[in-house]
Amino acid sequence: MSADEVTLDQLPLRDDLRGRSPYGAPQLDVPVRLNTNENPYPPPAELVADVTEAVREVASTLHRYPDRDAVELRQDLAAYLSVSTRVPLTERNVWAANGSNEILQQLLQAFGGPGRRALGFEPSYSMHPIIAAGTRTDWLPAPRRPDFSLDAREAARLVAQRQPDVLFLTSPNNPTGGSIPPADLESLLRVAPGMVVVDEAYAEFSARPSAVRLLERYPAKLVVSRTMSKAFAFAGGRLGYLAAAPAVVDALQLVRLPYHLSSLTQAAARAALRHAEATLASVARLAAERDRVAETLQGMGFTTVPSDANFILFGGFSDAAAAWQSYVDRGVLVRDVGIEGHLRVTVGRPEENDAFLEASKEVPR
Ligand code: PMP
Repeated sequence: MSADEVTLDQLPLRDDLRGRSPYGAPQLDVPVRLNTNENPYPPPAELVADVTEAVREVASTLHRYPDRDAVELRQDLAAYLSVSTRVPLTERNVWAANGSNEILQQLLQAFGGPGRRALGFEPSYSMHPIIAAGTRTDWLPAPRRPDFSLDAREAARLVAQRQPDVLFLTSPNNPTGGSIPPADLESLLRVAPGMVVVDEAYAEFSARPSAVRLLERYPAKLVVSRTMSKAFAFAGGRLGYLAAAPAVVDALQLVRLPYHLSSLTQAAARAALRHAEATLASVARLAAERDRVAETLQGMGFTTVPSDANFILFGGFSDAAAAWQSYVDRGVLVRDVGIEGHLRVTVGRPEENDAFLEASKEVPR
């Protein structure tokens, strides 16, 4: 038998992984890609030059392992968070990894695992249950209201009843776009018996205050997860981070792989962070475009879910999968997130949004 003939069924895969599907946002080469919530603006020339120079400098030290604790990068991230949230933080409050997906995985390795359970309100970020499965953490799906908002009272009742070891709260929520009002967040923090992971991948796009300001009140359970993949326009650089009590960082040191963040990643991320102000200037532009796209969609008779992020969940399709294909045929890649009658579109540059809106006139409803 050749290597190509071996099938997955023939491998001694863990029983609990059999029949599961991997994360799979299609990566298609079409002119307008609005499907993975990236920042559509490429890095400016000064940032590219700075990243290149930083990488050139570390290239001469690549025979050595990187700083295992990424201290300088964590200092820079803490400085950014302190300014943007007005909560004083140091590197002891911050941990970094290859994307916030790795942060979430380390959190479940440390606080989830066999015999433990994690709860999340669906629909939400599809990787939460996938990372739970990978770490053998039981996944407890909980509902949202029909309009996709979080019913905080019902949510608190469920959390008190199900007693999850890890509670995921995504704010703004992907793929629906809404964020959690601070009072609701706090009511859930009060009742949660275990760790509460507030996934703030899209926080920079939201006008709501970050959950970081609740760290002082809930230091033994709150973790705020962030990423440079979205507003920071650094998805290809793979840099996620968290803010929490220093003890949480100590816990993650028990499960992280040594030298998980390469010298190249650390240097490039630090260089990109020096340009934070210029990069984040795109946030206001994208928020304005988001509102324009949502209004235009409404004018065409689609429903849109109010969004605090850089994407919009919109509905009105009798067959969302067919509509998705029809967008692709017109050179526009959006996301079918598996919600009946709905698709999700990332806010792009104005001309990309126009192409998406043009296509929207033609796709079958
Ligand atoms: N959390 C949420 C809610 C997301 O939407 C994403 C990216 N789609 C992530 C985390 C992970 O992003 P990354 O690993 O690139 O930081």
